[in-house]
Amino acid sequence: MSTAQARLDAVRERIAAAAARRGRNPAEVRLVAVSKTFGADAILPVLAAGQRDFGENRVQEAEAKWPALRQRFPDAILHLIGPLQTNKAREAVALFDAIHSLDREKLAAALAKEIARQGRAPRLFVQVNSGAEEQKAGVLPDAAADFVRRCRDVHGLAIEGLMCIPPLEDEPARHFALLKALADELGLRALSMGMSGDFEAAVEHGATHVRVGSAIFGTRD
Ligand SMILES: *Cc1c(COP(=O)(O)O)cnc(C)c1O
Repeated sequence: MSTAQARLDAVRERIAAAAARRGRNPAEVRLVAVSKTFGADAILPVLAAGQRDFGENRVQEAEAKWPALRQRFPDAILHLIGPLQTNKAREAVALFDAIHSLDREKLAAALAKEIARQGRAPRLFVQVNSGAEEQKAGVLPDAAADFVRRCRDVHGLAIEGLMCIPPLEDEPARHFALLKALADELGLRALSMGMSGDFEAAVEHGATHVRVGSAIFGTRD
């Protein structure tokens, strides 16, 4: 068995166990393998092991890596999990199947324009700055409901769910619970939360998408 296969199997087993603890169906949890900083040599074995959802945090890096990989694996599904600049909306809509970092009105407008122009609509997650951290992207929890409504009503965007990255020093479960409560309040189905260090807690709190990098690819430089 390849290392990639063994690591993927281990992560999938841990997701299944966490889901089982809450009586959830593990099929409701999509594993997004975060391949940022890794090249095709590292990604190909993960594709060969059957993984199809991948996360990248930079548009330019993904544009350099994925067209060639997609020629070999046309059913690969790409998630943008990092901040998106408004002037990269065109490239992002063309390349990604999901964008997890929608967090401001200007970006909502730019995405709406590109979605109409390209006739291609990535699934959209609104990023919530659940810890109200100064340096972190995302709408503040108090502003999330209004922002989601404006995305829908002003910009005509279908919002699939919410995403968060808990503060490093905090207990993540509190943030996962907050995001779940917000999503329920807004009638949103999808929750992008949980990374290598905390994806089991995220699954226990209702994650539908976990973004797992180092547990699959090894540590990044
Ligand atoms: C890098 C990254 C991840 C994956 O982190 P790991 O700790 O390697 O699993 C998940 N989400 C976001 C937004 C990231 O930037």
